[in-house]
Amino acid sequence: MGKTIFFIFFAAALIQAAEIRIVERRKLDQGYFELLPGQKKEWRTPMLKVSSNPDPKIKTGLRVRVFAKHSGYGGWNRFMHIKVNGRIVERYDGNLIPRLVNRPDIKKPLKGYYQRYYGEPWYNVYGKSWDICYGKALVEPPKRFDPGFAEDVTDYLFDIDDLVTVDAPIDIQLRNNGDRYSDIVKLIKFKKQQFPMAVASVEAVTFTNPAGRLPASIKLAPPTEKQIAEFGKRFKVYPEFSEEGFRAELKNLQYSERAFADCGRHWQMRFSYPGHIWLQYSFRDKAEKFIPLLDRAKADGMEVVKVHAHWADINGKGPFTIPTEAGKRSVRRLTELCHERGMKLIVYVSPSWVKNNDDYRTEWEFSDRSGYSPKRPTWRRVCTGSPAWRSFFFNGVKSIFENFPDIDGIYVDYGIREDMERACSNPDHINAFRHSSNPLAASEDLFNRLYAYCRKHGKLMYVFAETTPNTQDYCDVHYVGESTQTMPAHRERHESYQGVLFFLTMCTFSYYSHREIYGTTMSMGHFPMAYGYGPPYGWKDKISDPLWYRYFFKAWKNLSVPGTHIYRDIRKCPLVKKAGNDLSITAYVNTSVYWIVYNRGGQTSELELSEPAENLESGRKAVRFKIPARDFVLLRLR
Ligand SMILES: [Zn+2]
Repeated sequence: MGKTIFFIFFAAALIQAAEIRIVERRKLDQGYFELLPGQKKEWRTPMLKVSSNPDPKIKTGLRVRVFAKHSGYGGWNRFMHIKVNGRIVERYDGNLIPRLVNRPDIKKPLKGYYQRYYGEPWYNVYGKSWDICYGKALVEPPKRFDPGFAEDVTDYLFDIDDLVTVDAPIDIQLRNNGDRYSDIVKLIKFKKQQFPMAVASVEAVTFTNPAGRLPASIKLAPPTEKQIAEFGKRFKVYPEFSEEGFRAELKNLQYSERAFADCGRHWQMRFSYPGHIWLQYSFRDKAEKFIPLLDRAKADGMEVVKVHAHWADINGKGPFTIPTEAGKRSVRRLTELCHERGMKLIVYVSPSWVKNNDDYRTEWEFSDRSGYSPKRPTWRRVCTGSPAWRSFFFNGVKSIFENFPDIDGIYVDYGIREDMERACSNPDHINAFRHSSNPLAASEDLFNRLYAYCRKHGKLMYVFAETTPNTQDYCDVHYVGESTQTMPAHRERHESYQGVLFFLTMCTFSYYSHREIYGTTMSMGHFPMAYGYGPPYGWKDKISDPLWYRYFFKAWKNLSVPGTHIYRDIRKCPLVKKAGNDLSITAYVNTSVYWIVYNRGGQTSELELSEPAENLESGRKAVRFKIPARDFVLLRLR
């Protein structure tokens, strides 16, 4: 007992020591205020950095508690502009946030399903930016900034040490930059929308960072075209179904079955198209406008095109209808354009999300809301236990297959959490699986029926679901990631998922580096989806994103050949002489034996092998590899 208490105390002391601590604080503002686009507020603080106390471990910071008080057009990091001593505090916006150090003093798990934490995305695994953009608090902000409020204000600490002069006061300016975005300006002008940024408090502080934490992100030089081409050429391809190919494969498996027997998980890759793109298409668009983009996608080897909700009419009759002849022609033309390039087209449907439209019925909802006006144009969750909704939904999918027989499949958006399905109180619904050990049993029941219907018609079924782990029996591809903010969060949340997975890097997603995204996904046995494909369709970093994607995509094509065996989280292995604790080793075995060795930790880690392996990025063979934090090597062993 005494030992346990001592141990807990000791552990707590260790955690305390590693945390960032605020040493001194100067409150700049007395309570809540709002800034509209174009408005700013300025302060001058007394000096914080003084020559009489030159402790290099103490840094100057700016702590801001803020949120964007509207939904859907970006969070604080899009709107807030900070200047310190006349200089812009760069690189915290658009999720490129190395200046953001921490939420130093609040680390509480939130109650509720997701178990998100307060805290900056890298400090804790779950980020806040999703909440910032879409939280309930944005529409109806609480009067008080209550730390217990589930989707509350966000608290950030920026490192501004390099912008501050010793023995001088600091000038600080906070501005709402909404007036500098054309889309926001249009919404202000024509729709009379307001985009206030709500600020709870601003403090100039000094702080210590004893653990020398990693910055929130780093920017790496993207690969050059030459590097992309050379990397791609290092993969060895055998003629399809050749005897020597099968020989190599079987010999590699014979070796791997023994060498990698001690692993966390082993499975065999099923078929999937390795490259998918997400096209921002609506039936109102002329399909031809996407030709340059589809040409590029084809040239890079993409094989599936997905269109999201607005491909059909979701505001009027819906959600499966195309109201005009021109719209129908546009959908058919887009299908043709994809097929001419050897690509499949899959279209959005959802068994759980519906926009309030002319067909909308309140009796689909989880609780009886018959008094509620169905005219409000907003997305609502509907219940998979509703016979009326099931009938509407399946007839909708049927109408797609009948009206557009050439469409190759559906993208099924899902959004029901475990607590919802069981808690449904609508008397018209049939809660058939109330006593099942699987809290999402009704959804799985529906998915199975839907997949059977897709198979019958030869259609692909791609599912987006953050919360249903075992999808191998009821879809072709399972996407995760829409509400997962960081790569450590992804690893924690989707570790045990089985099926053919892809990770969706949404616009609110933040990452340490591009290599972290590919290293994490490939070490887990899957790959990210190309969110958009070239300007202006959704890349965050329009230069680097496509280059990194193309660079690793070639590798993924070779790693994900159907039939490939994957041995994940290899522990003891005769090949390894020395490996750092933070390294995850995953083998892909087909006509070659590949290793992804990913460093999850915050320090450079070392790997030493008993025989040389080829680093496929450099083309060089070695036995020792130094792997930087949140980075990886791709090796070929045989
Ligand atoms: Zn229900």
